[in-house]
This record gives sequence, C-alpha cells and structure tokens, in this order.
Amino acid sequence: MLRAKRKERLSDFSGGKNYPAVLLFSAFFFCGLLISYKYLITGIGLYLGLWILSYFTIYAGTCRYCVYYGKKCPVPLEGSCAHRFFDKRETGFGYVQFIWAGIAYLLRATLPVIIIFREALYVYGVIYAVLFIAFWIVHIFFTGCPNCINGKCPLNPDYADN
Ligand code: SF4
Repeated sequence: MLRAKRKERLSDFSGGKNYPAVLLFSAFFFCGLLISYKYLITGIGLYLGLWILSYFTIYAGTCRYCVYYGKKCPVPLEGSCAHRFFDKRETGFGYVQFIWAGIAYLLRATLPVIIIFREALYVYGVIYAVLFIAFWIVHIFFTGCPNCINGKCPLNPDYADN
C-alpha cells in the first residue's frame, strides 16, 4: 500500500497544522449539502441524517480502537467526539477498522452521488469529486497520516514496522 513519509509525531492535532485538510473536508461536506438541496428539505434532512449515522458508524467501528480516541485527530469531530458515545476498546486497530471508516464515507457521499447522476449535475459532480480526492491526498500525504501516531493503521508510515 502507498504510504506517506513520516513528518512529525503528533499525539493531538489541535495545533492548527491540519487546517488545509479541515478546509477541504468542510468544503466536501457543504458541496454535498448544496447538491442534496436539489431535493429541498427532504434532501437536506436525508443528507444530514446520513452524516450523523456516518459519525456513529466511524465512532463504533474505528475511532474507539484508535490512539486518538478522546483527542483531536486529523478529521473534524471524529476522535475528539468518539468518547462521548462509545467506550474505548483496547483490542487494536487494523483492516476491519479501515473497512468501517470506508462505510462511513460511503454514507457521507452516496446521496450526493445519486443526485448528481439522477439530475445530470455534472459540473457539481466534478467539483464534488475534486474536493473528495483533494481531501484524501492532503490528508494521506501531507497533513494527516505523515504526522499520525496510530502505527496500527494500514495507512500509517510506521505500519510496515509492526
Ligand atoms: S494513519 Fe491516517 S488514516 Fe490512519 S488513523 Fe492515522 S490519520 Fe487516520
């Protein structure tokens, strides 16, 4: 698996070094919201409901196994909020947690993608895809994973050393 090179080891991402990924993640969220508005209040309600469900999915399946449980991690409202809803699990982190994170992102993106294709909103589709891809590139290669201390995550620069 392609992994970033190690930069720093941050036990908490509250120092503001992560703001490019946070901005892209926020733009991705708001772009999805705008696309969902095509179906007015139903679209907005469904979109927000799926995002809330995605957070509970990632808290239960991923964040409670992560070293950033209860701390500010690279993604807004994830590690920093998981402890409010789920107890910590000490049984490690691996590909299963990775899959749960993927399911959370499917929940976040499915409705806008359906609307893009149903309504032929291709310009929005390109913007949405660019924001999503840009977020992951910045997160994995520049601000998140290169500074992360969760060495059990398959994307972590230290993973091969386990
Ligand atoms: S290595 Fe990257 S994806 Fe894995 S927990 Fe750390 S920041 Fe998240």
